[in-house]
Amino acid sequence: MKIVRTIPELKKIVREVRKSGGTIGLVPTMGHLHQGHLSLVKAGRSECDFVAVSIYVNPIQFGAGEDFEHYPRDLTTDAGLCREEGVDLIFSPSDRDMYPQGYDTYVLVEKLTRGLCGRGRPGHFRGVTTVVTKLFNLLEPDTAYFGQKDAQQALVLKKMAADLNMNLTLKIMPTVREADGLAMSSRNTYLSSEERETALVLYKSLNRAEELILGGCRKGSKIIGAMEAIIFREPMAKLEYIEIADTTNLETLEELKDEVLIALAVKVGKTRLIDNIIVEVL
Ligand code: AMP
Repeated sequence: MKIVRTIPELKKIVREVRKSGGTIGLVPTMGHLHQGHLSLVKAGRSECDFVAVSIYVNPIQFGAGEDFEHYPRDLTTDAGLCREEGVDLIFSPSDRDMYPQGYDTYVLVEKLTRGLCGRGRPGHFRGVTTVVTKLFNLLEPDTAYFGQKDAQQALVLKKMAADLNMNLTLKIMPTVREADGLAMSSRNTYLSSEERETALVLYKSLNRAEELILGGCRKGSKIIGAMEAIIFREPMAKLEYIEIADTTNLETLEELKDEVLIALAVKVGKTRLIDNIIVEVL
């Protein structure tokens, strides 16, 4: 497994793989890898000849006062995990290489980034779509793997790839959870043991929503009210948003039908957590 830190070295390797006719799978990450990331790696390993994982904490997707500086970084442990999964290459560039002095080009998906996480994190998705475009150009993947855990991100990136005629397939893999239901996230390491308990409100409230829908409830506001009741019981949890939306355009639904995305963001102490489920409305 190669660990590549510079763009010229990366381009040389990608050229060689392309020349040999091999397919390239890419898993973009910010590192501090867990089983959620590794499920994407495993999918890539089973489908592609050459598997690359990018590990890059992308500064332009963090807002002022967010956790860019404190975001957990541990390339040695990440490299060990990638090696065990049979990854061929880790690309871990410097900020200077990704955004040299005078860098001035950004990619923006407009409508889909206005609601949900986009409302509380202005500029976040512009940072994501920009870095992912750069990674696609650099690594030339045939398939790129993303997690349903970041549901809005997955939709935004699919829209970007379609709108810009990008020549690759995006695969969205299911959310991997801890035994008690908490969605795996690199940010879970921020949680104290008490906060870790509180963090279960995301999963519990999503379960409650699903239960209500399966029981015949079709009113968005009623479901949101029941979810809020669970979250408001926890003094350490601060709700940012709950959204029940169309799974293709993210428009808010009051009358539920077909298939709905239920997504939420909650701050537990200082840690912002997100989770979501998709529910079939029969
Ligand atoms: P991150 O390092 O948080 O930027 O995540 C990198 C990729 O892993 C993104 O496509 C995420 O959606 C995906 N991912 C993160 N957590 C999980 C999880 N618990 N299950 C599945 N995929 C995940």
